[in-house]
Amino acid sequence: MKLSTGFWQTYKESPADAEIVSHKLMMRAGLLHKTAAGIYTYLPMMVRILRKIENIIRNEHDKNNCFEITMSVVTPAELWKESGRWESFGPQILKAKDRAERDLCLSPTNEESVVDVFRKNIKSYKQLPLNLYQINTKFRDEIRPRFGVMRGREFTMKDAYSFHIDKKCLDTEYDKMYSIYENICRRMGLEFIAVEADAGAMAQGEAKTHEFQVLANSGEDKVIKCNNCTYSANVERAKTTASLTKRTVTKNELIIVDTPEKQTISEVCEFLKIQEEGSLKSLIYKGISGETEDFYLCLLLGNDSMNEVKFKNISGHEIVTPATDNELLKLGLLKGFIGPVGSLDKNLKVIVDSSVDLSLDYVVGANQKDKHFKNFIFSRDCKLEFTHNDLRESKEGDDCLVCKKSKSIKEIRGIEVGHIFQLGDKYTKSMNVTVLDQNGKAVNPIMGCYGIGVSRMAAAAIEQHHDDKGIIWPISIAPYEIYFASICKSEEYVDLSNEIFVELREKGFEVLYDDRNAGAGFKFKDAELIGCPFILVFGERDFKESGVLEIRTRKTGDSIKVSKNEIFSKLEKMIMEERKKFEL
Ligand code: ATP
Ligand code: MG
Repeated sequence: MKLSTGFWQTYKESPADAEIVSHKLMMRAGLLHKTAAGIYTYLPMMVRILRKIENIIRNEHDKNNCFEITMSVVTPAELWKESGRWESFGPQILKAKDRAERDLCLSPTNEESVVDVFRKNIKSYKQLPLNLYQINTKFRDEIRPRFGVMRGREFTMKDAYSFHIDKKCLDTEYDKMYSIYENICRRMGLEFIAVEADAGAMAQGEAKTHEFQVLANSGEDKVIKCNNCTYSANVERAKTTASLTKRTVTKNELIIVDTPEKQTISEVCEFLKIQEEGSLKSLIYKGISGETEDFYLCLLLGNDSMNEVKFKNISGHEIVTPATDNELLKLGLLKGFIGPVGSLDKNLKVIVDSSVDLSLDYVVGANQKDKHFKNFIFSRDCKLEFTHNDLRESKEGDDCLVCKKSKSIKEIRGIEVGHIFQLGDKYTKSMNVTVLDQNGKAVNPIMGCYGIGVSRMAAAAIEQHHDDKGIIWPISIAPYEIYFASICKSEEYVDLSNEIFVELREKGFEVLYDDRNAGAGFKFKDAELIGCPFILVFGERDFKESGVLEIRTRKTGDSIKVSKNEIFSKLEKMIMEERKKFEL
């Protein structure tokens, strides 16, 4: 692109709603135009970046026997009604009616559509396995769109879907997709970790699923990782053991003690001079499924917190939420003093976290104002029916369940750029899809699905590759490989720089030519902000004095002088060397 006649503009300030560095830099570097909350127009530079990301993704899929299709963005309600997700998907799905009052939606994901394509085309196990993918627009009416394209409402996703006759074949495909995802991240220069994830509502039961998390402090996801072995998981899913001080079993009598106005765990424990892990936290939760509502008393160690995803999975409810103050009042419970002893509502279901030792004594709320019980032992003092289950959120300093190493668990933050799932027969069953197996019997094939946030990946790359001057694109996804800043005023030299630009382009270099009528400082600032890997500077004065141009490396700030004749060979060598770093 020749900037004097091109379409690109940068900004000194970022908009007020930009909180994280990638959002700020994307706006300042003129990559995006905000159309509405969470909805963006991709400007020319962004389009080039996205094409590069898409082509890496495409290349990795194509060479691994995945076939690209493009499904419609608008899908009819009938398909979603068949799978049952027209109602259950929730408010993220944007619905509309056409002129004939037929229900439609904007695709938030495409399992239903791909299953429909599959069932009309595939009839026999002989045509399997099959992996179909697309790179397309998705719409999810996110409750809190933020961070620019990191969590947009309209965004670009690569979604792949595979079909298999048996689990063994699905496992092989899953491993293949896992390596494809690793390759894609590597080729984009992203530092990442693949972690076990929560299967949520996408599949039934304990489905195998991993997330690809790009490491960044600004990441919305908390990732748990062992320092001693390879265990890593999204905190939603992570299972680790609380690292607890050994205590001996005492059989002291259950006594009630005064805890005047001490409501929080830390206040109570400080007042009673005990460690927080010697107390129990009593949390009241509400679970909602359709019309039914159930209330739960969840008990956890005082210094632990509740993992709502685990609780949702255990309780099986569609929605779980802490009870409101009003609901506590209705249940006759006193906020700050709730506990498992006393006359509690018969319908209250009780879940005790697995790290609570049923034979040890704890301090618990006494269901009376300003009172707690001391020496509460579950196996002795609890009159309620309860289940013992894993509810706690893993945290830094826990013991690893896999390698058993004590205190080896670390917490890090990540940006989920990809997610792979084993779906099983959830969609083929609900949408009544069969193929004939080896014995001529009609069976439901099983599926895997594999998603990458293409636009989110561009933002994640900036989170990892920037400095205070701007973006530093990995060459594999840079909008252009060379930013050619011409600092020439006289006609003779302007003509010469035009010639250099044309020759660079003809020789196949990807070059952004800054021939605008502006000063050197202005051009260098823009060059650093947009972050192309190499900046070629043609300064009229330098050239007159010593016959040289300058090649700067954006990442290191290094600069070399080259004669006009050397430009092409030198740039080619530098670009080749840089590209190599992102090859597998
Ligand atoms: P999240 O937990 O971040 O909402 P998700 O679990 O809903 O993600 P999937 O349904 O697995 O995401 O979608 C596949 C990929 O699409 C994600 O890994 C992510 O990279 C991307 N993605 C999902 N939601 C958004 C969004 N609102 N904006 C941009 N990218 C998104
Ligand atoms: Mg989501």
